[in-house]
Amino acid sequence: MIRTDLGHGRGWLSRPAAESVLRIDEQLGRPADSNSAGRDPQEQQQMVDRMNAGGPFALPVGTSEHESGNAWDSDEWLDPAAAAVLEDNGWRRTALARGEWWHAEYYPYLDNHINDQEDDMNADQAAALKRIDDAVSSGKKGVRNDGTILQLVKGLDAKLEKVVAALPMIERVDAAIRNGKKGVVTDGTVTKLIKEAAADDA
Ligand SMILES: [Zn+2]
Repeated sequence: MIRTDLGHGRGWLSRPAAESVLRIDEQLGRPADSNSAGRDPQEQQQMVDRMNAGGPFALPVGTSEHESGNAWDSDEWLDPAAAAVLEDNGWRRTALARGEWWHAEYYPYLDNHINDQEDDMNADQAAALKRIDDAVSSGKKGVRNDGTILQLVKGLDAKLEKVVAALPMIERVDAAIRNGKKGVVTDGTVTKLIKEAAADDA
């Protein structure tokens, strides 16, 4: 699991869940509220200790979706309009029976916005870009640029070159599959590209 920072001191989630939260930020027009996101086993143990000392319910270490970075506790659920946005983005409250109205888990297949951004940015880069963009559009002076934009563009460029180089082979395979040809031989380029893209993202 790739831990992805949510920005604004909100901790981390798994990459798909974090990207969803960033899309929610965009749709809300502000950073969404977060009380707890991903947790280390040690942090989960602290929650359990707190429960045993009379604190709120906590699942045993190794069984909480907070540890897999797919659970997010937020006060946004108190606002029906914001709650509708969270649901539209694939978040469902799974602990209502325990009275935890704030606890939700991410279901990518229920996310109506999962394909909104078909770019290769990760959540950290997206957050950095948004900070720069916000600063520039608000006319703020002395914006500190950490090189994210340049790095991003260079990364895309390198990826694009690889994809362009592989296009003839991809087209051959695509045509063969479309024409129902059997026994298509591939040299593994497509798989390699996909794996590389995934590795780049890590
Ligand atoms: Zn929770």
